[in-house]
Amino acid sequence: MNETRTTCPYCGVGCGVLLRQGPEGVSVRGDPDHPANFGRLCSKGSALAETLTSEGRLLQPRVDGADVSWDVALSRVADGFRTTLERHGPGSVAFYLSGQLLTEDYYVANKLMKGFMGSANIDTNSRLCMASTVAGHRRAFGSDTVPGTYEDLDEADLVVLVGSNLAWCHPVLFQRLVAAKAARGTKVVVVDPRRTATCDAADLHLALRGGSDTSLFNGLLAYLHANGHVDHTYVGAHVSGLDAAVAMAQRDLSTTGLSAEDLAGFHALWARSERVVTVFSQGVNQSTGGTDKVNAILNCHLATGRIGRPGCGPLSVTGQPNAMGGREVGGLANMLAAHLDLEDPVHRSAVGRFWDAPAVADRPGLKAIDMFRAVRSGQIKALWIACTNPVASMPEADLVAEAIRTCDLSVVSDMYATTDTARCAQIVLPALGWAEKDGTVTNSDRTISRQRGVVAAPGSARADWDIFAEVGRRMGWREAFSYASPAEVFREHAALSGIAGRLGRDFDISDLSGLDDRGYAALAPTRWPVSGARQGGRFFGAGGFFTPDGRGRMIPVATPEETASQPRYPFRLNTGRIRDQWHTMTRSALTPRLSRHLAEPFLELHPADAVTLGLRAADIAQVQSPLGRALLRVLVTDRVAPGAPFAPMHWTAEFASAGRVDALIPGAVDPVSGQPDLKAARVAIS
Ligand code: SF4
Repeated sequence: MNETRTTCPYCGVGCGVLLRQGPEGVSVRGDPDHPANFGRLCSKGSALAETLTSEGRLLQPRVDGADVSWDVALSRVADGFRTTLERHGPGSVAFYLSGQLLTEDYYVANKLMKGFMGSANIDTNSRLCMASTVAGHRRAFGSDTVPGTYEDLDEADLVVLVGSNLAWCHPVLFQRLVAAKAARGTKVVVVDPRRTATCDAADLHLALRGGSDTSLFNGLLAYLHANGHVDHTYVGAHVSGLDAAVAMAQRDLSTTGLSAEDLAGFHALWARSERVVTVFSQGVNQSTGGTDKVNAILNCHLATGRIGRPGCGPLSVTGQPNAMGGREVGGLANMLAAHLDLEDPVHRSAVGRFWDAPAVADRPGLKAIDMFRAVRSGQIKALWIACTNPVASMPEADLVAEAIRTCDLSVVSDMYATTDTARCAQIVLPALGWAEKDGTVTNSDRTISRQRGVVAAPGSARADWDIFAEVGRRMGWREAFSYASPAEVFREHAALSGIAGRLGRDFDISDLSGLDDRGYAALAPTRWPVSGARQGGRFFGAGGFFTPDGRGRMIPVATPEETASQPRYPFRLNTGRIRDQWHTMTRSALTPRLSRHLAEPFLELHPADAVTLGLRAADIAQVQSPLGRALLRVLVTDRVAPGAPFAPMHWTAEFASAGRVDALIPGAVDPVSGQPDLKAARVAIS
């Protein structure tokens, strides 16, 4: 029986999937040869075949609620963007994209906006996911380079998981860690205010005060320095900023709420473990101090030389399947392409020449929160949202809905007709989805894998790269957007990365630019760097960093002051994912067995809070912030701390209108990365 190799469309682990089409329909199993999962799949991945249904699919383009031809819809989009640009300039247009787009989709959209429309107003839901990591990497390394790999988990003596419920959010990677622990006794520390399922594998759970991660790692750095654990040979050869970072760490007197015994245990474990990997995720990134938290972690690895060696290093695990691919094409408002810098005139001009582009954006665009505020204020008059559902997933979600509804031109391309966002847009374009389209994704350890289309799409859906390219041609840039296949797009993307390599940047896959169509079709999972001087090697071992002087930088960071508790809103609401749903549930809710795990929106509440509030298990709690309210089923549990309840972020108006938690979250952002704080909304509960 024929099987097709592809990759899972959910999380950043990037598991390989074998898709089988037989008389009984489509089935899936884990790809035993894929280096991310070696055949394993989690509950979501195993249920993928059940999501291949036409239920809820958008079959035909729609304008103002009426089905129209592609020709009519695309003319409206192209004419609308062209006239907006002519009348109001490049600051009046914007794209909002997704870490679930394939790299080829992302590349074409980024080229259209940054090179031809002349604006950097292109941001993505990755801003909600790992923008703080990108900013932290760039401050420390001079580039957005993830130094760690999954193999490092197999070889580490100690794995520290910070703000990461790996057991539920990256389950196959968690299984890999559990296997390593069983095989070689790897110690595991979990740093999380909640006692999550991940804590089942922990030798030490540090249930620190929410938001105090910088304090924890500043304390660790001060300890390592005071007790002779700094690797002065590595630092002397490769790192700057040790003294300033240590001095700041010593001055950081903020508290984590942890006992002296737990802190001493953590410090001693770190110091005596030769090989340490720190895995971090949204609990670090989604914070007004997210970038500083990232640098506090990186500081400890740089100071001790626990980076660039097997079993050592920081490892950011991305939430989405192609957040890394999006970063590689520059799909964020403050990035260019191929990890080149938008602010650098040499980089801009190199990309402009390569694209033969008339107007490369010369300043950063608006990041997600500011972008939707600018739509609401009327500054942005033409907006295109692709493959994401911000009316459910963004903070200030109700204001995002209002912004889209009142925008002069709002376009959504998506698989589904019924998302909260699609319902708000004037023009809706049907896009191909997983198992229907071809392209590549890059997972959390820099491995580029193919997604392959084998299933016919319902209706007249088209690939996102194809839709963006067609609009580019209709706007007059025929040559630049004349792609006939995703393979052509990929070859151009790979060739552009060669320029980055020659300019001394980290992302260079130019050896793949020579792939013919057959080679692209057969492309096996490939971890970059695949070209240039570092081909096949590690980053930041003996090799230099990507800063002007080639040295890694330790950044002095301070723990931010906790927002004062407001009498009307005394609780600090933490949000996150559950094991068996994905983002805003557009795909995962299609399979009933995934809904059996946790079937409705809920609120984890500490027993002491439940008593104070007079709430019992299974009651309905009203959770209120200044922005709105949600109604959630009460789950009384000591997994959360008093005053710090937790609610999942998945439910949308489509599935449970009263369960929309992101409508309660204010748009407070990290000042460096622009990433919103989705973990600390002040709420009242009754
Ligand atoms: Fe998919 Fe992530 Fe599960 Fe792997 S771990 S099967 S990539 S959801």
